[in-house]
Amino acid sequence: MRVAIIGAGPSGLACAYELERRGIYPDIFESSSKVGYPVPRVEILLQLFQRPQRDQLRYMFEHFGLKFRPLGRVRRYFMHSLRQTVPVSGDLGYLVERSQSRDAVEVQLYEKLQSVIIFDTMVDYRELVNKYDCVVVAEGNLMTARSLKVLETAQAAWVKGAIILGRFDPEAAFIYFNTNYARQGFGSLKPFSRERALLELNIPGISHTELDSCWVQFMEQENFHMDIVETFEIPYTTGLTIRQQVGKVLLIGSSGSFTDSFLGLGLMEGILSGALAGKAIAEGLNYEQLISPIIMQVRRRFAFREALNTLDNTGIERLLKFIALPGVKQVLYNTNIDIINLLHPYVKKYNQKIKPAF
Ligand SMILES: Cc1cc2nc3c(=O)[nH]c(=O)nc-3n(C[C@H](O)[C@H](O)[C@H](O)COP(=O)(O)OP(=O)(O)OC[C@H]3O[C@@H](n4cnc5c(N)ncnc54)[C@H](O)[C@@H]3O)c2cc1C
Repeated sequence: MRVAIIGAGPSGLACAYELERRGIYPDIFESSSKVGYPVPRVEILLQLFQRPQRDQLRYMFEHFGLKFRPLGRVRRYFMHSLRQTVPVSGDLGYLVERSQSRDAVEVQLYEKLQSVIIFDTMVDYRELVNKYDCVVVAEGNLMTARSLKVLETAQAAWVKGAIILGRFDPEAAFIYFNTNYARQGFGSLKPFSRERALLELNIPGISHTELDSCWVQFMEQENFHMDIVETFEIPYTTGLTIRQQVGKVLLIGSSGSFTDSFLGLGLMEGILSGALAGKAIAEGLNYEQLISPIIMQVRRRFAFREALNTLDNTGIERLLKFIALPGVKQVLYNTNIDIINLLHPYVKKYNQKIKPAF
């Protein structure tokens, strides 16, 4: 069987790994000259969003033989708003690196593969459909979904980030909600190590020209005075697709809308979608059926984003006060209850009552 994978990001490589385990060696096309993000980044895997699984890395190993080293565990998480900070602690998830170094998730995946990656080659699925039995699209964007007319909704955003030096707790991550500078987005601080961290501001619906002034406000209002090593800007789009397979084209990772519009999380979902696409291709199974639980989760999180979009700073303060209640905090962060699933009907009702600005 001839399989092409477009994109050597985490989801494309996870798909290749699963195919190889089943004796299929795909051709992987990658537009860059190397595997991995050119600017190092830290991404967070929150257990809260993976329930009922307790440990996402163990789950991937047990089900797909896929093992990679995280940077470390997240044991402390701080949610900031204009006037308060809500701290939570426990086994909250993992921090992982995205870069071109050996610690990066994608490089670790790449090292496990035997398949050939054809670098410096930008391809379009239409060039490949007649040459291959299956084309897996893992481009990290929704362009193919748009072209196949399966894109239901899309939201463009800009991220500005900086690698900063200072003294950090390697097991602590921070999120900042403040509509003054983040509008309907958020800021975050995630450590690479005790000395190096990533500061990011993620704002949906903003034009590039407005990004710098929001960034300056973010730095001022949160009183950040660390040494900046380098800064970067990334445009990206999240959305929903009505289907993830059209004929012999399978959409995985961010290309299949596995990155949510709530907090822009999707790394594990992308990897899982890649592994399931590999399994579906190799065993002749229905890909859309295999991924339907993950797609349901992403759709539920979309409703949370719609609700969050209606809140101003006062609304955010109220929400964080509610989260700070001991019983609520316990259920949210220190149980295995699928809280997103549980709260979804109420969030949906709220969205129906208040017309969201999304
Ligand atoms: C700023 C930011 C912060 C994030 N933070 C988190 C986080 O903390 N936690 C989390 O879980 N998720 C996070 N995410 C989401 C996570 O990064 C994505 O879910 C993940 O990258 C999806 O992997 P992918 O393989 O689908 O796509 P990508 O990682 O984008 O990889 C796509 C690959 O395809 C290549 N490519 C693109 N087009 C073509 C083409 N036409 N031909 C050949 N090659 C092509 C690209 O060069 C790239 O290598 C974040 C995303 C962003 C943008």
